[in-house]
Amino acid sequence: MSEGTAKKEERPKFQAIRGTRDLLPPETSLWNHVEQTAHEMFATYGFGEIRPPIFESTDLFARAVGGETDIVSKEMYTFEPKLEFLREHFRSIDDAMHNESSLLRVLQLVAVFSGSLTRALILKQTVDNRETVQLSDELEHHVSVSIARWNRGEHEPDQKWREWLSRAEQILWSIDLGVRESLRPEGTAGVCRAYIEHNMNQLPQPVKLYYVGPMFRRERPQKGRYRQFYQIGAEVLGGSEAPAIDAEVIEMVMTFFARLGLEGVELDINCIGDKKCRPKYVELLRAELRKVKDKLGADSQRRIETNPLRMLDSKLENEQKLIEGLPHIADHLCDECAENYRGVKKELELRGVKYRENWRLVRGLDYYSRTTFEITAKGLGSQNAVCGGGRYDGLMELLGGPPTRATGFAIGEDRLILSLQEAGKTPAAQGRDVYIAWMGEKAYATAIHAAKNLHAAGLSVELPPVEQKFGKALGQADKLGARYALILGDNELASGEWTLKTLASGEQAKFKEADLLDLLRKSKAVSS
Ligand code: AMP
Repeated sequence: MSEGTAKKEERPKFQAIRGTRDLLPPETSLWNHVEQTAHEMFATYGFGEIRPPIFESTDLFARAVGGETDIVSKEMYTFEPKLEFLREHFRSIDDAMHNESSLLRVLQLVAVFSGSLTRALILKQTVDNRETVQLSDELEHHVSVSIARWNRGEHEPDQKWREWLSRAEQILWSIDLGVRESLRPEGTAGVCRAYIEHNMNQLPQPVKLYYVGPMFRRERPQKGRYRQFYQIGAEVLGGSEAPAIDAEVIEMVMTFFARLGLEGVELDINCIGDKKCRPKYVELLRAELRKVKDKLGADSQRRIETNPLRMLDSKLENEQKLIEGLPHIADHLCDECAENYRGVKKELELRGVKYRENWRLVRGLDYYSRTTFEITAKGLGSQNAVCGGGRYDGLMELLGGPPTRATGFAIGEDRLILSLQEAGKTPAAQGRDVYIAWMGEKAYATAIHAAKNLHAAGLSVELPPVEQKFGKALGQADKLGARYALILGDNELASGEWTLKTLASGEQAKFKEADLLDLLRKSKAVSS
């Protein structure tokens, strides 16, 4: 093998991680357009932008999204705190003592624990206060003394040792071992945490917030489903249960989609009751499902007991017929919920928003109530939901906040963009307004000055960094899709009249500097 080949083979080849991707120009200008439209439109509905962190404590998501959900139990990107293993070691000592394992076994475990503690101290992974250092020394010393005793046939733990261990435990709990943290799989949890943390209930209610940004779920990647994906979401926090609130956020999303020209948009809505009426319906559903348990798969059988509502969004072919025969929640709503649902539908009609009722549209978690909705769009195959939302009046309390009514939605931005692209709404490649073809040192100085003025006027300018012959420069301008070429050479400098070539027509004319800048500025104003 030649040296050259060897080198080639050694060269690492990096690729974006499965389920993640690079968003590149010109596609990114479509992303910017979508986000800019959201910023502008949501502001007209009184929403302000919130930018919560991208990672939060794992417990927050476990509470807000639900520990039993796939998102939390399987799909989160979680970071264990560096020192969590110390706690694990300690638990195993505790277990061993409680299970009356041999003293030698316990001693071995303590040796591992004290070694880890010492290492953590050396690596400065923990607060090295005097107490911890002393404890680590004492444990180390005591383990070796005890092992020596064991070897002499003394197999009973002495009282001192138990004292040391209980001190170790105390100290361990006082050390800041850190908490488990996860990349956010969705946006609502962080927004609610922020609402509570910043006492936003003291502000005029409701507080209307929206966010734009990446979310992370370790799902099986496919078209329209990624491990890093983007959501545009909005929440109305601290309002009332007035149907107008739900209807207004739905109207806002639908108007947003219409403004972007999204095609084949369909809105499904449902009412899933509240704390009062839903439990009765869930019991009824459970009873009905138990009757046909044998016909269901293992997952569904489990759901009958854990969360029968989730059965309604089963996609399994063989379960569809059976599900169609189940009782509908609309027939089991309490009077208040039924009234609220009628109100939401009326409000949507008042706003000219077309909807379809879908009794199978549910959310499996207890803190959701009443309105749920989902929006689908064209060109997305099986992953055609572009937006999901609803009311979650119980969440804020679950997170330790005051009772707070809330409603919101999350748009899948990747899918929204995909659908726009499928409908041919791709942005043009980013051209340039002006390509400055210059030759000679003096012309270069003038070119820099001209470029500055053009930038200031908002025109996109390409100023080649090295001199090139005019023929080559014009070819380059063409390749970049420039509209104009500004030609600056000896003649132009001598006469004070600059040459401007319109690339599409090939026309060329001379202008004084001020006139030329004026003309370009105006041309920009007309084209944008
Ligand atoms: P959810 O938070 O699950 O209600 O999702 C809200 C919206 O986010 C969905 O309707 C999808 O449009 C989008 N979404 C959810 N998961 C993914 C994913 N893995 N990749 C792309 N978009 C997603």
